[in-house]
Amino acid sequence: MATEHRARKRFGQNFLHDQRIIDRIIDAVNPGEEDYLIEIGPGQGALTNRLAGHCKHLDVIEIDRDLAAEFSKQFAEDDHFTLHNVDVLRFDFTTFPRRNHGYRVIGNLPYNISTPLLFHLFGCKDLFADMLFMLQLEVVNRMCAKPGSKSYGRLSIMTQYHCQVEKLFPVPASAFQPQPKVESAIIRLRPWKTPPSPADDPQLLESVVRTAFSQRRKTLQNSLKTLLDKELLASLGIDGTRRAETLSLAEYVTISNELNQNQQ
Ligand code: SAM
Repeated sequence: MATEHRARKRFGQNFLHDQRIIDRIIDAVNPGEEDYLIEIGPGQGALTNRLAGHCKHLDVIEIDRDLAAEFSKQFAEDDHFTLHNVDVLRFDFTTFPRRNHGYRVIGNLPYNISTPLLFHLFGCKDLFADMLFMLQLEVVNRMCAKPGSKSYGRLSIMTQYHCQVEKLFPVPASAFQPQPKVESAIIRLRPWKTPPSPADDPQLLESVVRTAFSQRRKTLQNSLKTLLDKELLASLGIDGTRRAETLSLAEYVTISNELNQNQQ
């Protein structure tokens, strides 16, 4: 950076400065000459400078005007680089032309918007070949969690519905400047071409899951009673006295597909 930048808390700015961690992330991305990359939150360029020039095209999305100004200077002459100085939550990814192999998304994400951002990306996941993110360790654990565990919930189910999930490695707080108060981890997501348990209406699936987990400690027949009764649950082979965190993704899909049929 040409000028000194003071990290902005409201934008979740924790900049990577540990070269070994940066190397590991770049190795995990392994950018190819033909890849179309999208980096979310390039910040001061810790990853960006290692990705630019090693791919067909790099789009970066950065909300901070001062940081964006540095990129527009640095890459003014580069036809393989496009800066979008916008809020990624408002960014319409479907304006990008479709690519045969899909875009590859990378980001050391701002932790304060991680859940809405993940859902925003799931909404247009067909555009993406894969996504590699740094997130709060606790969020990564929730995304990977299996039924029966404490971390299992809406984020686990909807992440695993949309993507194949792979937790790669932890990253200590000391790798960042300023240091965050939490530990972090790298996760890779590969959107399914066809989900293993396809939902007729993924929005309805999400709403069933949200309702079930809104009262996590209640039995399913209680938390879902506005949607279906225990007899209908039983006819699907699901005991209504079970709790939300014990059901598999496939069982949630069964419930949501049944509701969808009943609504037709
Ligand atoms: N990639 C850099 C690195 O690894 O050092 C910076 C990562 S920092 C954790 C998150 C970055 O996301 C910051 O540059 C921040 O300004 C940017 N950011 C925060 N909220 C954003 C939003 N809503 N849309 C786009 N960028 C955002």
